[in-house]
Amino acid sequence: MNKDGVLIVLSGFSGAGKGTLVKRLMELHEGYALSISATTRAPREGEMESVHYFFKTREEFEQMIEEDAFFEHAEYCGNYYGTPKAYVEEQLSKGRNVILEIEIQGALKIKEQRPDALLLFVTPKDAETLRERLTGRGTESPEVVEQRLSRAGEEAEGVEHYDYLLINDDLDTCVEEMHSIIRDARFRVTRNLGIIDEIKKSLKKGE
Ligand code: 5GP
Repeated sequence: MNKDGVLIVLSGFSGAGKGTLVKRLMELHEGYALSISATTRAPREGEMESVHYFFKTREEFEQMIEEDAFFEHAEYCGNYYGTPKAYVEEQLSKGRNVILEIEIQGALKIKEQRPDALLLFVTPKDAETLRERLTGRGTESPEVVEQRLSRAGEEAEGVEHYDYLLINDDLDTCVEEMHSIIRDARFRVTRNLGIIDEIKKSLKKGE
């Protein structure tokens, strides 16, 4: 069996609870690594270098693009975001399942380069729940709530290219479903064609 970890791309509506889901998954199960992206946006309060992001200047980021250091990168709200290759490859080769928590355009670029990547899309159980989560505690103006809701619609463009839909209703149930999908993905034929080739070669030698 291919000993490399599974490359997992996790996207979903903002308000779907992706961050909480990943945190809980990593608390309950071993063998996971979360990829840290590079970005040119400024750190928000409480964000730490090399923990939340690798914070780069535009020049540094563009240098990394030239050096082909990214799996994918995208420009979002005037800032660059990208997934550095080195860490992801190192962790995968150690057998860890690596999670990329990125938006949908980046997800589709990953799928092009790595057809064996597992694309998961997380959603709350219905629009009403999403509306409640985006509305929060009623601190946002109706305009802002509407903006967030219409953006949520855009975030689902291209969802049909994903492999699995996770419904985050009960957190622990969703965590176990995610974990079991990832475990099953290790057995995908496309990840394990090398084994079949080996068997075929050995059979030929014995002819
Ligand atoms: P934020 O600035 O709020 O941390 O992130 C903005 C958006 O960029 C989010 O949708 C987030 O998932 C996405 N993002 C974070 N890292 C990456 C990355 O490496 N590549 C891409 N394509 N998107 C990313």
